[in-house]
Amino acid sequence: MNIKDLVEEAGYMTKRKAACHGGEYYSPCPFCKDGHDRFLIWPNRHNNNGEYQGGRFSCRKCGKYGDAITFLCELHGLNYLNACAQLKIRPRDRQSTFAIRQPYKPPPIALDPTALWLEKATAFVNWCHLQLMNSPAALKKVQERGFSTESIIRYKIGFNPGNAQGRDIRRERQDWGLKNQLKEDGTFRKLWLPVGFTIPTLNAAGVPVKVKIRRTAWEEGDKLPKYVEVSGSKSSPSIYGDTNLPAGLILESEFDALLLQQEAADLVYCIALGGSTKPIDHDTNTLLKRTKTIFFLPDFDEAGATAWVKWKRQYPYIHQILSTEGKSAGDAFLEGINLKEWIKQTIAKIDVNTIKAA
Ligand SMILES: [Zn+2]
Repeated sequence: MNIKDLVEEAGYMTKRKAACHGGEYYSPCPFCKDGHDRFLIWPNRHNNNGEYQGGRFSCRKCGKYGDAITFLCELHGLNYLNACAQLKIRPRDRQSTFAIRQPYKPPPIALDPTALWLEKATAFVNWCHLQLMNSPAALKKVQERGFSTESIIRYKIGFNPGNAQGRDIRRERQDWGLKNQLKEDGTFRKLWLPVGFTIPTLNAAGVPVKVKIRRTAWEEGDKLPKYVEVSGSKSSPSIYGDTNLPAGLILESEFDALLLQQEAADLVYCIALGGSTKPIDHDTNTLLKRTKTIFFLPDFDEAGATAWVKWKRQYPYIHQILSTEGKSAGDAFLEGINLKEWIKQTIAKIDVNTIKAA
């Protein structure tokens, strides 16, 4: 018996997909029961340590993966020895069971920006905030995204109108305490502060350690990014809200994270990844490990699905949630969805399931 037989025995049709790893098949996922082709099966594939344990599987939706033994243990609740017996595989001795772990890579430590950078960023963020408060047109744009004036002030959202000609601001990197970088043409790279809405990440003392700018000049097909992280910003996800709460929510957009804070700050804190593909830093990892319930609200696209698999591997107790009809939290809010009620119900549902499982 191999993994393919087990999946079929569990009542799922398998289909051949490719020839890689000695044959690749797919089926609906017996764990999350989602979709029809996200669950991949390799009946002839060996484990990373070269051992053959009935082949391997991986779900691109819920992130479950492993060999035929994992499958039997997790789907049917068999213990290791019984699973081996069913597969006619000789059980490993204790030592080698522990020897197949992947080498542990500690999460990187994200350093705070230098004092000079913090000083410059504070001045820039405050100036942009003032510009926003004095520009009815720009203010209206932020309000149209659902932000109250009170939130705009609390989160110090701002608008960078650019230089006197209304163009993007460019500064010497060393003025902000950053190392000079030589460009290919031999000139020094400048620090880029594009025209747009500024979203700072404030530390406990209210000082910006990271600044994101949503460029107003951005358009579909633009070679330059829609969101620009000001060079020298702290290299960690943006965390908003009370991190002592028992629930945290991970999502992509800083704006959506702040909107959720405006609506439900007493229920969850938020972690905005902001398009970063960097590994989670030490402090964020520690925070996630001590938070009772973590939710992940992926963007409704392929990148979101891939990210989910990664998160599930790193934090197996994480829960995926989707907003209504796959909309972003911001869009849902604008369509009249009560974000607080939605978060409250999501937490209640998870709690019930946890109690059931316990
Ligand atoms: Zn699945």
